[in-house]
Amino acid sequence: MQVKDFREEKFGYAVIGTRGEVCLATQKAKDHLRAGAHLDENEYKPTVMTVNDPFRLEAPLIVMLEVTRQCNLTCGHCYISAGEPRENEMDTETIYRVLDELKKLKVFTIFITGGERSFAVTSLISSTTPRNATSLSR
Ligand code: SF4
Repeated sequence: MQVKDFREEKFGYAVIGTRGEVCLATQKAKDHLRAGAHLDENEYKPTVMTVNDPFRLEAPLIVMLEVTRQCNLTCGHCYISAGEPRENEMDTETIYRVLDELKKLKVFTIFITGGERSFAVTSLISSTTPRNATSLSR
């Protein structure tokens, strides 16, 4: 895997490749990862992990951020029954704050979805959003 980014976890590392593939690696992968080298997933794959209770990653690997339920269409297949916005939807400033927070946590991939996202914010993808932020098109 060609490493795009990684973050430290208690057991070692969570790693994302340039093609969006994700793997876990032991602490032995440290030098390899810091050098930005190609990572042999099998060589560094954790085979035995001590799981503390409760086991959790430092942050999610993937986040689906639904910025609004508002939509001007009413497709029968819509998985959120879009139409009117929910009460207490995030304003644009809050959405950016959440994106900044997710970036700090090194969440690898963020799907920005709705509803019709342009009702919530017109320009979501910017230099302030994480590198892997993806705006889902319908
Ligand atoms: S959010 Fe997408 S699927 Fe849902 S009603 Fe709007 S256009 Fe259709």
